[in-house]
Amino acid sequence: MKDSQELSGNVTGNKIVMSGIRPTGFLHLGNYFGAIRNYIRMQESNECYFMVADLHSLTTHPDTKSLKSNVHRVLAENIACGLDPDKAAFFCQSQVYETAELYLYLNMLAYKGELEKTVTFKDKVRQHPENVNAGLLTYPVLQAADILLHRASFVPVGKDQEQHLEMARNFANRFNHRYGDVFPEPQAFNFNETLVKVPSLDGTGKMSKSENAMATLYLADDDDMIRKKLMKAKTDSGPTEKNSVKPDYIENIFLLMGLVSAPDTVASYEADFNNASIRYGDLKKQLAEDMIRFISPIRQKAADILSNEKYLAEVMEKGAQKARVSAQKTMKLVREVMGLNYY
Ligand code: AMP
Repeated sequence: MKDSQELSGNVTGNKIVMSGIRPTGFLHLGNYFGAIRNYIRMQESNECYFMVADLHSLTTHPDTKSLKSNVHRVLAENIACGLDPDKAAFFCQSQVYETAELYLYLNMLAYKGELEKTVTFKDKVRQHPENVNAGLLTYPVLQAADILLHRASFVPVGKDQEQHLEMARNFANRFNHRYGDVFPEPQAFNFNETLVKVPSLDGTGKMSKSENAMATLYLADDDDMIRKKLMKAKTDSGPTEKNSVKPDYIENIFLLMGLVSAPDTVASYEADFNNASIRYGDLKKQLAEDMIRFISPIRQKAADILSNEKYLAEVMEKGAQKARVSAQKTMKLVREVMGLNYY
């Protein structure tokens, strides 16, 4: 990772932060540890733009009947986690129309071949062969537009977004070379640590909003559901030799424990594993209680916030106003360097 990971300002000297979450369902532990945790840490001393990526959700969820309630949920759950709409601009993507204009220009600088090779595109084609639309293909271009619109350098995201960020840098560089220096190179950001991937509980992939609900821990899960999911997490009969290598699915459980349990608790189960004396039932019970202690205050707070639609509307309106000011400044520069300012 580059020096800019220090958040001490990059070549352009800015400390602008941008990221987004799609309103495609309940937020989960992966969203928290991959993204939201860093939103909260970064909002204190940086210019932050965080958005609900409703336009992105249309690429896979064209039915808009539950969109409003999903948007409200993403807002409420982020605020319950500690996102402060007075510190960060917290807005809805579709309310900043300049996004669509920049997306259009960047589309002329994105090539079909590179878009077709994107891992997330290939995954989505496999999952939804009946709806391979152009929006899905150009998803990374829209994401680049969101980031570049605020000339952001730091993008707190999970590991699954690494390739998209590389593409955003390519589009920014192509634009700068062709028309003039407008955009900094945005970096995926996690405070000098590797980007996070929170695995699913069945050991087959990552936690996700819209797939494999029993293998994902949602911030809205009640205590019994958390216990049930964790007790069903994949384990085996335990190591038969001391200092064995952990299978992936056991590594995953320890990873989850590292996120929510006290360090000495994790160390004690690590020692049991290395002594080949671990009892996975005990470990899962402990993890469930620590997980409940982490999730239940967020769940309760989010439920309160969610019931206050007026407050959520005010948050969105205030956030969109802030985001539009920054977007309009960038688009003025973009049109100038492109030669689209005719009078
Ligand atoms: P999405 O849910 O795809 O809209 O992603 C919103 C944010 O959460 C992005 O920054 C993702 O990288 C992050 N994220 C989603 N799932 C995970 C996961 N399982 N582990 C880590 N980060 C994740």
